[in-house]
Amino acid sequence: MTISDEFLTANYARYAVEWVRGRGTRLFDADDTEYLDFQTGLAVNALGHSHPAIVAAITEQAGRIIHAGNLFYTEPMVDLARRLCELSFGERVFFTNSGTEAVEAAIKCARKRRRGGKIVSLQRGFHGRTYGALSATPQEDKQAPFAPLVPGFVAVEPTPEAVAAVVDGQTAAVILEPVQGESGVWVLDDELLRAARAACDEHGAALIYDEVQCGLGRTGRLWAYEHSGVVPDAMTLSKALGGGLPLGALVCGPEMADVFAPGDHGSTFAGGPVQCAAAHAVLDHVSDAAFLEQVTANGERLREALAELPGVVEVRGRGLMVAADFAGVSAPELVKRLLTEQRLVANATGPATLRLLPPLIVSSDEVDDAVSRITRALEQAA
Ligand SMILES: *Cc1c(COP(=O)(O)O)cnc(C)c1O
Repeated sequence: MTISDEFLTANYARYAVEWVRGRGTRLFDADDTEYLDFQTGLAVNALGHSHPAIVAAITEQAGRIIHAGNLFYTEPMVDLARRLCELSFGERVFFTNSGTEAVEAAIKCARKRRRGGKIVSLQRGFHGRTYGALSATPQEDKQAPFAPLVPGFVAVEPTPEAVAAVVDGQTAAVILEPVQGESGVWVLDDELLRAARAACDEHGAALIYDEVQCGLGRTGRLWAYEHSGVVPDAMTLSKALGGGLPLGALVCGPEMADVFAPGDHGSTFAGGPVQCAAAHAVLDHVSDAAFLEQVTANGERLREALAELPGVVEVRGRGLMVAADFAGVSAPELVKRLLTEQRLVANATGPATLRLLPPLIVSSDEVDDAVSRITRALEQAA
């Protein structure tokens, strides 16, 4: 029995589907039924499933060396760090295995730089599940069962005034997602980012962007910060970075680049050659201008079509990071119907919010197809 919770802890509410294989924008279950994937394992499969370039990179690298550890150099890792820096504001990179670990590294780096200090995060923010990242994730249901959290964290409303008021000489860092993903795709105003930048500059705090979900082409630019032009001191990456393998990164700009010294921080598997080889294949595609234009065009197409659907009261997003709020429709029930009846894989971030995170390689026809499936699911529910 594959669809069984008998030996699994109960922290996921899984759908009763077993994925057996994937190809491009499609997933196939145990009966070989085909689904259109607009969830991508939560913003991971940017190039779709089993992209030939990723499969080739992983296969080739696995035949050469799989693990060496961080007391030595491997070419895919060193090259990936250089590429991430050349493509961004970065000067140095610390690799991790996940998004939450990239956030932990950012928090540790910011606190070491300031010899302590307060970490400011924003309401509706999500930064991960380990203690530091969780302490920066001001959601009662996620935090409360695991108290006490790490001291010195404060969360404020996502407004320029609130950020300006909270940052002071005791602040190590402000951490925020330029587009808040997990809470339902909220694009932060440029004005808020400028206020955060100004407050950090005034008080010597570090500005950290969590681009774990919104980075790497998802918003139609390689990095979400490019939309505002407000550059952080560090950014966290993961999700799409490893092409489906576990890989994260803390990209450090000049203020953060020279903080870590030997022994300060580390991770056994992080930056492994196979993960990094896969990441090169991802970067080859998502850093391409024509590819990013397609992401922008398809994102606009998707948002415009969603806005026309019955019951939709608001559509938010940037590029192919999209959410629609409904009135009188349960988003979790809609997601279930989409999966079981329409064979469209999507996700609900709340009782009224549908989130769509298609592969960035999606075609305009597939965008239209997904909207048709949502339309049919809404009609059948009515
Ligand atoms: C998913 C996510 C994380 C956590 O990443 P994991 O790899 O699940 O630890 C952190 N920040 C943001 C913005 C995310 O979307």
